[in-house]
Amino acid sequence: MNRDKMEVILSKIKEYSRIMLFRHMRNDGDCVGATKGLKEIIKLTYPEKEVYIIDEDHSDYLDFLGGEDEPVADEVYAEALGIVIDTATEKRISNQKYKLCKEIVKIDHHIENDETQYGDYTWVEEERSSACEMIAEFYTAFKDELKISPEAATYIYAGMVTDSGRFRFRSVTGDTLRCAAEMLDCGIDTDTLFAHLYLTDFESLKFKSYVYDKMKITENGVAYVYISKKAQEKFGLTFEEACTCVSFMDSIKGCLCWIAFIDDEETKSIRVRIRSRFCPVNTVGEKYRGGGHDCACGATVYNKKEVSALVADSDALIGEFKATHEGWL
Ligand code: AMP
Repeated sequence: MNRDKMEVILSKIKEYSRIMLFRHMRNDGDCVGATKGLKEIIKLTYPEKEVYIIDEDHSDYLDFLGGEDEPVADEVYAEALGIVIDTATEKRISNQKYKLCKEIVKIDHHIENDETQYGDYTWVEEERSSACEMIAEFYTAFKDELKISPEAATYIYAGMVTDSGRFRFRSVTGDTLRCAAEMLDCGIDTDTLFAHLYLTDFESLKFKSYVYDKMKITENGVAYVYISKKAQEKFGLTFEEACTCVSFMDSIKGCLCWIAFIDDEETKSIRVRIRSRFCPVNTVGEKYRGGGHDCACGATVYNKKEVSALVADSDALIGEFKATHEGWL
């Protein structure tokens, strides 16, 4: 029972006077919102406890949620409870010092496999739309005991909104909306939150137009685009900004899968962001050093040949899906 798992996690939080929260590399609204939200809840409820989020990985578009804690000596980790949120595998944990913690709790909503087994206490629900939904559920389950603030609720709500495509993905359930309602009741300023998350500079629309110009569509309806280092420079984009282009292709009728390939100068690789509707595509991500969710996953490739192979695999998968299913759009 998940109630049992949540009770174990709460008892561990109570037991430790020092708690360190961890998340995945290439952070996003969900892992940032979940760690920051849980930190605030713990700090408000147990002001005497030390709670840290130490993480150098950073996303400009989430700056409005505030910064991280300063690094601490290794000894500080040794007496702490580590809570890793929204991170399927150990190698994707952004701050690898999590290993120094005395005990590890894992809270996650990614698909499980052989590589995803870690932690002394785990609470994993693959069908949750976000890890933030799980933190909202955790708060709600113990709301007589736990304290929350509009700030904490805003962190959590930000993750719920971003990871569920503004509550559009099919992972969204009645529970998702009940958890969201619980957060909204705490007094979130949604005008300001959505302005931070979704307003764009006019200049960035030129990049959007470039993506529509350059993208290709395969025979079976896989839309894909490759964003070279040169294109990133041309539009004055950070790598992270360039990576947002995957969402530009999300509403094309008949294109059930859309993929962005983005040159990553730092790691000398090509980041792949794969998205789909109706048809799960995570097997493609897994084949190319990645993984994630059924309809939203990532991968890494190293050359144009692998780009073509990944596109061909996706096209075959979508072709097979279209031939054997009805009702897709
Ligand atoms: P992204 O395109 O990076 O936003 O990834 C979409 C989803 O897949 C997120 O939930 C990521 O955490 C997950 N994901 C991305 N890359 C990987 C990977 N290499 N291994 C496992 N999960 C991944």
